[in-house]
Order: sequence, then C-alpha cells, then structure tokens
Amino acid sequence: MLQNSDHVVIVGAGFGGWRLVEALRREGFDGEVTLLGEETYAPYDRPPLSKQVLAGKWDAERATLATPERIAETKVNLRLGVRAMSLDVESNTVELEDGSRVEGTHVVIATGARARRLPFSADDQILTLRNRDDELRMRLELDGLKAGSVIVVIGGGFIGAEVATQLKSRGFVPIVLEALQRPLIGVLGPDVSSWLERLAADADVELRSDQHIRDVEHGTEGFVVRFEVGEPLHADAVIVGAGALANFEWLEGSGLTLDNGVVVDENLLARESIAAIGDVARFSWPNVMGEELVRIEHWEVANLHANELAHFWVTGEGTRALMVPYFWSDQYGKKIQMLGHARPDDDVVRVSGSPEEGKWLALYSRGGVVTGIVTLSQPRGLMLSKHLLESPSTLDLALDDAPWAD
Ligand SMILES: Cc1cc2nc3c(=O)[nH]c(=O)nc-3n(C[C@H](O)[C@H](O)[C@H](O)COP(=O)(O)OP(=O)(O)OC[C@H]3O[C@@H](n4cnc5c(N)ncnc54)[C@H](O)[C@@H]3O)c2cc1C
Repeated sequence: MLQNSDHVVIVGAGFGGWRLVEALRREGFDGEVTLLGEETYAPYDRPPLSKQVLAGKWDAERATLATPERIAETKVNLRLGVRAMSLDVESNTVELEDGSRVEGTHVVIATGARARRLPFSADDQILTLRNRDDELRMRLELDGLKAGSVIVVIGGGFIGAEVATQLKSRGFVPIVLEALQRPLIGVLGPDVSSWLERLAADADVELRSDQHIRDVEHGTEGFVVRFEVGEPLHADAVIVGAGALANFEWLEGSGLTLDNGVVVDENLLARESIAAIGDVARFSWPNVMGEELVRIEHWEVANLHANELAHFWVTGEGTRALMVPYFWSDQYGKKIQMLGHARPDDDVVRVSGSPEEGKWLALYSRGGVVTGIVTLSQPRGLMLSKHLLESPSTLDLALDDAPWAD
C-alpha cells in the first residue's frame, strides 16, 4: 500500500496519466507525484480533437484538463517536453531523453498509443490525428484550403468517419477510402457494420469500400492516390485514420512482459510497484465470460484504470466488479455507443429500432451469454441495459426482460 513517504512517477501526461494524478489525491494519497510527458501541452482530452475542435467550434485549448489551478491543487510535479527512454525496474528509475533520471518508489506506464502511419511516398505530407501537434498541423493545412477542396480520408473507422463528418460540415469534400468490404466490419462484425453502412451516404459523404491503395504521391498539383486497380484520385489533402499502435518500445529490455502493450494483471500491475494503464496496457479483463487479456483504446477504460489503480494502491483493495468498457463515436450526425468488448464474430440480434429509423439497439452474445450492447442514437436504452454485462446474463433472459424498452 502507498505511504505518504512514497513517490509515484507517472510516465505519459495524457488522459490516463492525468486522471491517475486526480484519483490518487481523491483517494487521500499525500506523497509526491511526478507526471512526465513528451508533449509540451498540459494534459488534455483527445476526443474533442476529432469532434468540436476539428469542427471549428472549440479552440484546442478548451480540451485542456490540467488547468493551472488543478495542477496547483493536486501538487503534481509536472514535467512536459521530456521523453522517457528506458525504465530500470529494480530501482524504479526512469531515464529521460535529456539524460536525466527520475526515481520513484512506484512507476506507472501511461504512454498511450500513436497514430499508425502507412508507407506511402507522400508520408511526410499526409496528416494524422492523435495529438495537439497533429491538430495544429491539420488546422494550418485546412485553413489554407478553399471550400470545395477534395480531402481523401484513408480509413473509414472511428477516427476516419469522425474526421470526414467535420470536414463535410466545414464545406470540404471528403472522400473516405476503406480497404475492407465495409467500415468497422473488423470491429463490430458484419451485421452491425451493414446497419451503419448507409450513415455516410445519408450525410452526403462519399465512401468507397474495397479500396486497395498502392501509393499516395505528392507533387506541385497536390496529392495523387494510386490504386492497385483503377483510375488515380486527385486530392488537395490526405488524412490517414488507420488505427493506433501502443507506445511501449521504450520499455524494450526492461524485463517487463511486452506483447502488443505492457502486460499487467487484474490489478494493472506488471511488478509490485510498476503498473500500466490506458491504451498501452494489455490487462487481464474480468468480464461475463471470465478473464481475458486485452488492450482497449477507450477513454472510459483509461478512466476506470486510473480510478482502480489509485484505489488499489491507496487502500490495498482490488475491485471485485466486472469491468464494462464503454465507447462512443460521433459520426455522420449520429452517435454510436457500445458497452462491453464484443468480438466481431459474436452473434448479434437487433432488439429495437432499425437502420431505416436511424436508431436501433443490438445485443452481442457468445454461447448464449450477452457480451456486448451497441446502439445507434439510443443512449437511454443502452444505459438501462448495462446490468446485462455487470453479471452474466443469458440472451434468452435478456430478451424476456427487454430492459432497453423501459
Ligand atoms: C482524435 C481522437 C478521438 C478520440 N475519440 C474517442 C471517443 O470518441 N471515444 C472514446 O472512447 N475514445 C476516444 N479516443 C481514445 C481516447 O482518447 C484514448 O483512449 C485515451 O486518450 C487513452 O488515454 P491514455 O492516457 O492511455 O493515452 P494518451 O491520452 O494517448 O496519453 C499518452 C501520453 O503519453 C505520451 N508519451 C508517449 N510515449 C512517451 C514517452 N516515451 N515518454 C513520455 N511521454 C510519452 C504521449 O505523448 C501522450 O501524451 C479518441 C482518441 C483520439 C486520438
């Protein structure tokens, strides 16, 4: 358990790292807390970057979480613009890029993930959206384009769809290129992705599926997207939304178990005094089907991790409850919300609404047990059904009870 003589060093001053600072103080920890981050911005919230900020409704500064007042209140040593290069797990010492070292009694890895880049010739000119520097670069580039400019968005997943939505609202002409048969088919499965397929068209956004891009080139005339088959596509800007990669390479050689993330146990521990939280953590997830090793890139999961770790280290009590991941995405004028972390090959049954109505709710199940709930613009039904994932529920009982209909 943490004593007030302890020093918690958190690496990664993003959403989860900041939430952990707040949670440690809320739990009553009064010892030293150091938050190290490679970005130069005080911790901020990322979801608004592809929503209100890109729409031009918010200044990026408004997404800041760690205001000067909160930094003072939490008495955190905030060190920004410093990149961690390695971790000595015996002495809990983090080595920084400038050669300095920070030693704690406890270390938390909260280094999140970065946007995946694709190996195109024009990679240096292609935009991604993961952090505020990306947002700044995108803003400068978009501000230089006229309304009606064609912007190719590579990847029709959550970020690509949100970006295309905001580009459209600003008078640009986004063209979304999706490699698969349908966007989100690999995440939400064939049925749910088919119900979402019409959203782009309804919002008057051009979505092209089954697109196999050979290269993206940049020259004096702008961008040219070249395909394996078919005519090239000209564009004024290109944005890639092709998923994220966890930032754990800096821990190679540390002795921690790294496998598509930092592998931690049900209490988020990699060692007794070393933990990982948020997008970088591959954690043992207690759910209705048992325990599963997963890495989940959801805002709410980073939030839950921060709260659980602070509670565990301050009180010694692990959580007994099943964790119900929550995710939302605002795209093409609609809100997709999901509880649980269903697999794309789980069975799906739609229990309310329809794509034609523009709202529906569906249950995922595996072996007759409900594993997830997904809705389009039915937030109340989703929340009324959350208990189906807080303890195991059979699909039959869920269909009889129909809590979403209350
Ligand atoms: C544009 C965008 C929109 C999103 N929208 C949604 C949404 O609608 N719904 C949802 O559920 N989730 C959404 N997410 C995901 C959500 O923001 C993440 O799950 C959440 O930020 C994870 O928090 P984290 O602390 O693990 O990582 P991050 O917030 O990414 O923070 C990690 C920090 O660590 C820093 N870092 C990395 N390596 C080092 C190093 N070696 N040394 C020092 N610092 C380092 C990074 O620079 C970063 O600042 C969105 C993400 C993005 C990018």
